[in-house]
Amino acid sequence: MTNIMKKQKYERPIINRINAGVSNKFGTQTKINIISEIDGLAVKDLLKDYDSPLYVISEREIRETYNKAKQAFSTRYPKVQFAWSYKTNYLDAVCRLYHKLGSWAEVVSGFEYDKAIDNGVPGSNIIFNGPDKSEEDLTKAIKNGSLIHVDHFDELYLIMKLADKIEETPKLAIRVNMDTGIYPQWDRFGFNYENGEAWNALNRIMLNEKVDLVGLHTHIGTYIMTPNAYGVAAYKLAELAVRVDKKYGHKVKYIDMGGGFASKNTLKGAYLPGTDTCPSFDDYAEAITNALINSEIDPDNLPTLFLETGRALIDDAGYLLGTVLANKRLADGRRSTIIDIGINMLFTSFWYEHNIVPAQETTHHTEDTTIYGPLCMNIDVIRAAIQFPLLNKKDHVVISRIGAYNMTQWLQFITLRPNVVIIDMDKNVHIIRENETKKNFDQLEKVPEYLK
Ligand SMILES: *Cc1c(COP(=O)(O)O)cnc(C)c1O
Repeated sequence: MTNIMKKQKYERPIINRINAGVSNKFGTQTKINIISEIDGLAVKDLLKDYDSPLYVISEREIRETYNKAKQAFSTRYPKVQFAWSYKTNYLDAVCRLYHKLGSWAEVVSGFEYDKAIDNGVPGSNIIFNGPDKSEEDLTKAIKNGSLIHVDHFDELYLIMKLADKIEETPKLAIRVNMDTGIYPQWDRFGFNYENGEAWNALNRIMLNEKVDLVGLHTHIGTYIMTPNAYGVAAYKLAELAVRVDKKYGHKVKYIDMGGGFASKNTLKGAYLPGTDTCPSFDDYAEAITNALINSEIDPDNLPTLFLETGRALIDDAGYLLGTVLANKRLADGRRSTIIDIGINMLFTSFWYEHNIVPAQETTHHTEDTTIYGPLCMNIDVIRAAIQFPLLNKKDHVVISRIGAYNMTQWLQFITLRPNVVIIDMDKNVHIIRENETKKNFDQLEKVPEYLK
């Protein structure tokens, strides 16, 4: 057969509205943003040097955001201490950077606790939260003088039992949950304020000579978009502190407001982009510090204000870089683009409409596109519907604001996890977690004799 006879590939015709340069519903231009560089380094080169996909963390952005947060609180309140929330991103290099900036460690498991110790954090600067602290974990934390935030009565009684045997006096705070106007209410952690459990726990601690009440803690939820909820929470903790002082003449050393500030990511189903709706650190700081300084707390003994901010500190500093694998038309004519970043590497894609942009100049013509990851799984959707230009195979994409939770909640699934690099202040790139190899996994597996 000759070439002339060869059948042409059929492409289903579709009609598209051309929307280049036209305003969207927010009145802004539908300009295609691109991210071709991170801190002055070309995305293309980073991918060439460290393979695709690639997680990139910007030290510059970590520092800038941290300084902004610190400034917002310390200009409004005399004693402020941040504690880095390990579960938000516990890569050692990241934790050490926060510790270098002055953050203590906030951990929620024995594993995270040991990580903090290995990262050089003094035991007394570790806040131990979470509902699952083993007897061994608690013993270690008591001996190290760490701040133990009690989650429930069973844990409190275990600590009191341990206090009989251990020389060091356990330093305790209770986690308090409460109605702050945020629903559904997070009432599964800690002791409830309204039903009197929190007050009850405080009395039990105060009446036991072998334990020391040092603080009060709450973590009202995550991605909280109403600063006023923090005002309510701070007011209620201050009220408990005042009651303890009145009844026992005992002053708590700190009030810990937990984490939960929103990041600029856009939640699924949100009408406006997160960049427009996210409160500033100043908004949160204003609500919290107003409640504290206007409370009845003795001004000569102001407790230190602890903050365990995670998401809002690191989200913006993380990028996920990837490569286009293919384009195809779906059954209904919609275009789909397949990239090498799967939801196993982007756990937060379950909640966020992640900002994904090309890494090189593209046509200004965009089309409603579904962006899929590379997994052989129907749910592997990075963006279900996004106005996106046509990228070609091997073109690069950048997903921004991925610094929080993706490097801890990632799943090893179908593919191996890639390199993570940090760009330092002098634009040097350092690998802070190597890409996984099959060997890493082989080390943990055991095949019983009879299957060999
Ligand atoms: C997860 C967590 C944080 C951090 O929360 P963000 O929403 O990331 O700020 C702080 N404190 C506790 C107790 C947590 O469980």
